[in-house]
Amino acid sequence: MAAICKRNLAVHGAPPVRRKAWPSWPISTPETEQEVLGVLRSGRWTISGPAVPAPLREREFARRFAAYNGVRFCVPTANGSSALIIALEALDIGPGDEVIVPVLTWVATASSVLRVNATPVLVDIDADTLCLSVNAARAAVTERTRAILAVHLHHSMADIDALLQLSRETGIPLIEDAAQAHGALWRGQRAGTFGRLGAFSFQQSKVLTGGEGGAVITNDEHTYERLQELRADSRRWVDQPRDLDGMQLVASGQIMGANYCLSELHAAILLGQLPQLEEQLERRAANAEYLDRVLKAVGYVQPLRQPAGLQRRAVYEYVVRVDRTKFGDRPVERICKALAAELQLSFYPTDPPLHRSALYRPLSNRRFLFSPERAGQLDPGPLRFPVAEAAHANGVVCHHAAFLATQSDMDDIVAAFEKLSRYADEI
Ligand SMILES: *Cc1c(COP(=O)(O)O)cnc(C)c1O
Repeated sequence: MAAICKRNLAVHGAPPVRRKAWPSWPISTPETEQEVLGVLRSGRWTISGPAVPAPLREREFARRFAAYNGVRFCVPTANGSSALIIALEALDIGPGDEVIVPVLTWVATASSVLRVNATPVLVDIDADTLCLSVNAARAAVTERTRAILAVHLHHSMADIDALLQLSRETGIPLIEDAAQAHGALWRGQRAGTFGRLGAFSFQQSKVLTGGEGGAVITNDEHTYERLQELRADSRRWVDQPRDLDGMQLVASGQIMGANYCLSELHAAILLGQLPQLEEQLERRAANAEYLDRVLKAVGYVQPLRQPAGLQRRAVYEYVVRVDRTKFGDRPVERICKALAAELQLSFYPTDPPLHRSALYRPLSNRRFLFSPERAGQLDPGPLRFPVAEAAHANGVVCHHAAFLATQSDMDDIVAAFEKLSRYADEI
């Protein structure tokens, strides 16, 4: 009696579907090492130091990342969170303002809104893409709404066509949190270039990484100038270093900023990584396409439905919805654990929706509570978001590193789902 002996699944010690290792992430390259060494020897480890003859990596990366995205301007930052903060500040968003944020996202999307003293208004997601529901966003608009902060999550994109339409109708600017979507294409144009501003993260797990890092991109010159000051203590670039001290960042003081500068070492890593991005995105997208197709045929594991405008996705995390009745009705954590054991590869549930997340507790920090009425607005406890809650209960996620493997490696993932459903009572 297999069900009693529990002897078929790897999670109980049986032989797994696969023992072969998966590609790891991040991937260093000789170019990356050269770039980093170059900085170490240059005498210039930060943009806020005196000029040296060698060109600044940070400015070079900004130039190349703007060109990659087909936009005019890029301002690198220390991380993706500070990119979001200066994007909001560049639009002059502050106390009393509301910003619409999807409830399923990394916490930084909402915490950045808190950090500029504005109020995140959480809304539910779309069941197909797991990104911001445009209908829910429309319903959440009030006279205080100052931005819609859409997130391109996992390996999909929020419905850009509908969001731009909503933005045009209401006059409310769109900001794209593209921290998971570098290089994704929507009708031929890259994620992060549709809104007034696009924000990126280069933290280690992301598809383009410097270990830590971030950037904001825009086509608007005035916004670009504000972004520069906001991330470098009110200073901007000048082309000629100042005689006095050789500084290339000089006081401007149009808008008060803070220090969110990307270090030269991180910029160097990014310069070493950027040349691989496009080829890696292609490979992951092709593998995801293939896996979608095979899983759809299996039936009880549903890939995301791709929106019509999404021409080439960026696979940051691959997510599928499982029909848990085919897996013994076990909680998704148990299914993930059993899958991981079969494949020697990490599987995990989606992040919890923010109103259920231990990471999103605005009332636990007094800096966000500057007025009594605000406590009520910031308490996520009573809120309910059925689509996001269902996505979290049934979603199984896998990091993009596995999608740098081959097509036949994808078959192992399918075999593991099939094996689990065969021995569902053991999960
Ligand atoms: C990673 C991430 C961020 C924040 O980036 P950090 O570099 O970790 O500060 C913001 N939004 C989303 C959707 C992310 O995935």
